[in-house]
Amino acid sequence: MTDLKPLFTELSTEPLYIAGPCSAESREQVLLAARDIAQAGISIFRAGAWKPRTKPGSFEGTGREALEWLREAKERYGIKVITEIATPEHLEEVLKYDIDGVWIGARTTTNPFATQQIADALKGVDTAVIVKNPVIPDVDLWIGAIERIYNSGIRRLAAVHRGFGTQQTTPYRNAPHWSVPIELHRRIPNLCILSDPSHIGGRRELIARLSQQALDIGFDGLMIECHPTPECALSDAAQQITPDALVELISKLELHRTPAATDALSEYRLHIDTIDSKIIELLAERMYIARAIGEYKHAHGMAVVQQDRYNELLLAAEARAESANLPPRFIHQIFREIHEESVRQQINIREEQK
Ligand code: PEP
Ligand code: MN
Repeated sequence: MTDLKPLFTELSTEPLYIAGPCSAESREQVLLAARDIAQAGISIFRAGAWKPRTKPGSFEGTGREALEWLREAKERYGIKVITEIATPEHLEEVLKYDIDGVWIGARTTTNPFATQQIADALKGVDTAVIVKNPVIPDVDLWIGAIERIYNSGIRRLAAVHRGFGTQQTTPYRNAPHWSVPIELHRRIPNLCILSDPSHIGGRRELIARLSQQALDIGFDGLMIECHPTPECALSDAAQQITPDALVELISKLELHRTPAATDALSEYRLHIDTIDSKIIELLAERMYIARAIGEYKHAHGMAVVQQDRYNELLLAAEARAESANLPPRFIHQIFREIHEESVRQQINIREEQK
């Protein structure tokens, strides 16, 4: 995807901020929010016209009417306006109202059929498309959705990290799993990736810290929910902030330029590179021995996996982790991967000898 373009070529500022209410609730609410957000110097305004809600009977947006308010906000305040689409019909409506861009929500990204239908409808359309991460922390599913949109010809493309559904008790509404957007960046380095601290946090108190973390990690910008009277919002009331709070939050963010590597940093990196190559050499040596063991087991009619030995190995690794001040869970994961590769190699030996 080397030919991606900025979402809005004329607004390629850094960081890129998108703000606006979760839902477009009324003409007054949209115009008030858009005015204040434009005044805050933010040029991309978000508001959901159709809202995917967990339970029926909740406020599900006002649809087409909201698009009229968005168009009016755009004309009055000279901002770009974007909204969520989940079906080809939504896209068809959006295109009638001169909306500048769309986002695909987490629930839609989770479903390849739904994403493909939107991608098919986007063929030949020139708009900006933002793909939110799927509800589950599956980077391939996220990349798959992005590829579907890309294959339909869209080049003004970005991703939004909004956290992942979790059953575990965390302070967040959606667990950040930062490693997932980091992997997305590794796989598609030139894709613009924003973070959405509002949906990750689920509570306004968490938004400032999550925003700073995202910028520290190197995200290209933020999408933040902002409402004139957050406590009265018809959706996501607990996670929206006022335009004043947004201005204050942004003014306190520390921006980081990619620093020129200082001498000390280069030295640390050199040290890390040396350690990494040692790790790889040791793994190769370990695998060589694992293959020798595989030959032995094969020659003696033994099964590849010896369950007791596997458990013993994991427990020993965890115990060592603990005394080395490393999280046992982390070491457990690494050793599971290593063991899995050893098993694969030992199975290969049997196949090679058939
Ligand atoms: C939203 O942005 O308001 C929204 C519904 O987001 P998500 O798809 O991330 O839940
Ligand atoms: Mn929302």
